[in-house]
This record gives sequence, C-alpha cells and structure tokens, in this order.
Amino acid sequence: MEDQSQVASEVEQLTLSLLHCRGEVERLREREQLVGSLLASVNAVLWAFDWDQQQMVYVSPAYERIFGRSAALLLADYGEWRNSIYPDDMEYAEQSLRSVMQVGAVEEREYRIIRGDGQVRWLSDKCFISSPALFGGRALVVGIAEDITEKKVMQSELQRLATSDVLTGASNRRHFFERAAELFAEARDSGQPLSFLLLDIDDFKKINDGHGHQVGDRVLQRVAHCGAYVVRRDDLFGRIGGEEFAAVFPACDLQQAQQVAQRLQREVQRLQFPSGDDSFGVTISQGLTCLGDGDTLDDLYARADAAMYQAKRQGKDCIVLG
Ligand code: GH3
Ligand code: MG
Ligand code: MG
Repeated sequence: MEDQSQVASEVEQLTLSLLHCRGEVERLREREQLVGSLLASVNAVLWAFDWDQQQMVYVSPAYERIFGRSAALLLADYGEWRNSIYPDDMEYAEQSLRSVMQVGAVEEREYRIIRGDGQVRWLSDKCFISSPALFGGRALVVGIAEDITEKKVMQSELQRLATSDVLTGASNRRHFFERAAELFAEARDSGQPLSFLLLDIDDFKKINDGHGHQVGDRVLQRVAHCGAYVVRRDDLFGRIGGEEFAAVFPACDLQQAQQVAQRLQREVQRLQFPSGDDSFGVTISQGLTCLGDGDTLDDLYARADAAMYQAKRQGKDCIVLG
C-alpha cells in the first residue's frame, strides 16, 4: 500500500515537472518569435562575424532589404560583403573593421555600398567585439548597419546652404574667408606660391538702374558662372560683396593666375543680356596679387583691392597686378 502511494506521488511529481518543462519550451518559443519579429522589423542589419574564420555567421532579415542582395550568398561567402562596398571606401571599411579588434568597439563608421540593383547608399555600421564567454571563446565581431543615405543628403544640402551664396551658388563671404585662411596657412607651411584675385563688375549700378534689379541679379549669376567655369578644381571662388567676387589660387604663381584672370576677362566680355530688341554686355575690373615674404592674408587682400581700384581708375575692363 505504501509502495503504491509512493509511486503515485513520484508520478505526480514527474507530471508536474513535465508540465513545467512544456511551459518553459512554450515560453522560449514565444520569446524566439518575439526576437524574430523584432529583428525583421528593425530597419538596420544586425550581423555577427567570426573573425578567426573570416566568415559571416549571422545576418538579420533587413540585410536583403538594405543591401538588395541574398543573405544565403553572404553567409556562404564573406567576399559578398566586400563586393558590396563602394570601391573608394573599401580601404576605410576594412581598416575600421580591423581596428575593432584592437579597440573593442568602433562607433563612428560610415561608408558607401552598392546595392544589388546598382544603387549607391550610405551606411552607418557600428561594430564591437562580443563577450567571448557567449560564443565559446570565439572572437565574434557584431555590428549594426543602418542606411543613412537620406541623412547624408540632408547634411550635404545643409552644408551647401551654409557655405554658398543663394543667388549665385558661389562660396559666400564667410566661407570664402574661412577657406582662404586655410589655403593661406597651407601655402605658408609648404612654401608653395598662392595668388589672390578681386573682381568688381563695372558700372553695375547703371545696369540695375537701366534694366531693373532682376536683370542685375541675372548678370551676377552669369558672372559667377564664368568664375566657376575658369577656376580649377582646387581653387576657391566666392562672392564677397554685392557685385564683388574674389578667388584664391593655391600653388599658382602670379603669371599662372594672370592667365586665369585673362580667361575670365574674356568670358565675361562674351556675355550678352537681352534688353528689349537689343542686348547689352558687361565688363569687370580685376586686381591680382601673389603671396610674398611676411605677407598676411589681410596684406594680400589690401594689395588686390588697391590693384582693383587702380584698374577702375585706368578706365575699367582690365586687370592690374599688385
Ligand atoms: P564701378 O564701376 O565703380 O564698380 O561702379 P558700380 O556702379 O559697379 O559700383 P557701385 O558700388 O556704385 O554699385 C554697386 C551696386 O550693386 C549697388 C547695389 O545696389 C548693387 N547690388 C548689390 N547687391 C546686389 C544684388 O544682390 N542684386 C542686384 N541686382 N544689385 C545689387
Ligand atoms: Mg563694388
Ligand atoms: Mg562695381
């Protein structure tokens, strides 16, 4: 009798444990479903990379959406990740991934990828080394890659608005002098030549008075386009006042800068603006100087300004060296 009741109690215990286990399994399954649906809805790629094996061991569902590529291919071959990186950013992406092994975490990591459909997108890809205790001592790098293309476009648009003149698109006065100071310091350090140009539109007030302010604005835009057209990629060109523009030519001596100024003079002379049945042209006066021993940026500006006023006194539409 006693034996029977002991067996019954053991059976009861076992049944309770079984029920408890079933509850646990159910709970784990629910937890897994929750994590799965979270990973699927997060608009960022979570990834885990086995550093020793150089193999991607996990990538979340957003990978296929953000990269426009197959996750199965990536898991089979890490080369697929490298293939997706924009060539100019490859060195940075690789070097910053390597550095996580030294520093443990890399928070600021941005590079471009080429999606499977050819679109170029910007990614922010933070990564860090996971706790070795979690993966049997293996060095796993885990990361979260987020598409920040829209943010990048907005940033560069804000940068453009902050540094350029709204009417002409040339550098605005503040940005011009900030960049000019940087180029000046670089020239001082390297011993390279540097030239500085000031230009002012001749009789601009008459244009405004005779043809209206809107036509005056159009003249400013076209003169600015001529400036942007003749300067080289590394030169600086900006609108520093109403109808006054300036340029800095790094690594350019007076003779080379003079050739650019002459081209600009000709480009502006070619411009024609319709006015009723007729058309009219514009001219500019330019003052040009170059960096000498002991000069400050203010000295360059003052000499170019004096040369430009000399050009006005000489009858306008000419270049004077200062
Ligand atoms: P000079 O040949 O000696 O340079 O004479 P100027 O008439 O060009 O020079 P002045 O400085 O007398 O006139 C410049 C004019 O530029 C006065 C101002 O109303 C006009 N101006 C300044 N900013 C703008 C602008 O954004 N748009 C237009 N349309 N005119 C502007
Ligand atoms: Mg003026
Ligand atoms: Mg003028």
